Amino acid sequence: MTSTPDNPLQNAQRQFDIAADLLDLDSGLRSILRSPQRQLAVNFPVRMDDGHIEVFSGFRVQHNITRGPAKGGIRYHPDVTLEEVRALAMWMTWKCATVNIPFGGAKGGVIVDPKQLSRGELERLSRRYATEIAIIIGPEKDIPAPDIGTTPEVMAWIMDTYSMHRGHTVPAVVTGKPINIGGSEGRAEATASGLVYTLREASEAIDLNITESRVVIQGFGNAGANIARMLDDLGATVIAASDSSGGVYNPQGLSIETLLAHKARTGQLSDFVEADRVTQEELLELDCDILVPAALENQITGRNASRIKARIVGEAANGPTTPDADAIMFDRGIFVIPDVLAGAGGVTVSYFEWVQSLQEFFWTEREVNAQLERVIVNAFHEVLQQSQERKVNMRTAAYIQAVDRVSRATLTRGIYP
Ligand code: GLU
Repeated sequence: MTSTPDNPLQNAQRQFDIAADLLDLDSGLRSILRSPQRQLAVNFPVRMDDGHIEVFSGFRVQHNITRGPAKGGIRYHPDVTLEEVRALAMWMTWKCATVNIPFGGAKGGVIVDPKQLSRGELERLSRRYATEIAIIIGPEKDIPAPDIGTTPEVMAWIMDTYSMHRGHTVPAVVTGKPINIGGSEGRAEATASGLVYTLREASEAIDLNITESRVVIQGFGNAGANIARMLDDLGATVIAASDSSGGVYNPQGLSIETLLAHKARTGQLSDFVEADRVTQEELLELDCDILVPAALENQITGRNASRIKARIVGEAANGPTTPDADAIMFDRGIFVIPDVLAGAGGVTVSYFEWVQSLQEFFWTEREVNAQLERVIVNAFHEVLQQSQERKVNMRTAAYIQAVDRVSRATLTRGIYP
């Protein structure tokens, strides 16, 4: 087997090729869907608190807009690259199509460590980046949202900046904004809620009792921390968790309430006293029932996939598993719920938020969650059925659904001119 690289774009394309082959996709459609439609690279100055000017680089990539406006988050991280943002944009196209919401795919990124900036610097950076990408975003064009390193507050600054340029308030230009300026109930927890719905359905499919399961979570940001809380509430035992400071492990189970309080107080997990320390690599290979990668790309690869002990892997992160690792885990009977399905709760409620913002008519939390559950559970069973019929893993099954939807939409619309 030729090994898959740690280049997210090549991995995204390899995942796409597997589905395209099975769909016997026309070569023209293949070329259209294999690469992003538009990409914008920007360099822009920010005045730092001490008065000096620093120039930052950022991107906004729109992979596809056939099924609706481009949609996807903005990442602030020191390791952001254009190639990575291209992959992330492509994954958003398949994510939206897998759960059948009427959006295309996009992603943005800025090369910056937001933890090194003051609040004022972060605001100026966000407002200037929003200004630079304002030429391609908009409520009917491309709608940003939070991703790693960005928050509802950053979305508020982007919404305000865009609105100042227009001369009127445009709430639907971003999602994941604070509720008091038009954000949706349930959006902050939506990625975690969606993931837990898929874990529940997958557990049922393989006869695992989720309330007695032992869970490992890599990543303790908005998704990871909420997943820990929700699974703990369900009665599952979270035995290990990590963030960028490292991992903590207690085979008897971590007290999630104490861990969340510790993270809120100190900003990191690694010095939590009621647990042993583990590295990110060790954490992934711990003996458990459910493993949730909720951090970055390329975590489960051809190098460690044969040592993963979980029965279910639920991907909250985008692109945590390489195609090599997929093949190994499929052979070993591990049930992988792919990012485009397991991680789709966030963008699903983003869709609800966008609809609410456009209509200026707001739903209750109960309505949001009921619609979210319906969308995710339907998509899960469509993908499961596809995977059983075609005898392929859940990722390939999801891609078959998604690529087919986007291809058919392309053919229905026709090629312009
Ligand atoms: N950043 C999230 C994701 O990767 C959410 C995107 C959105 O809501 O547009 O799915």
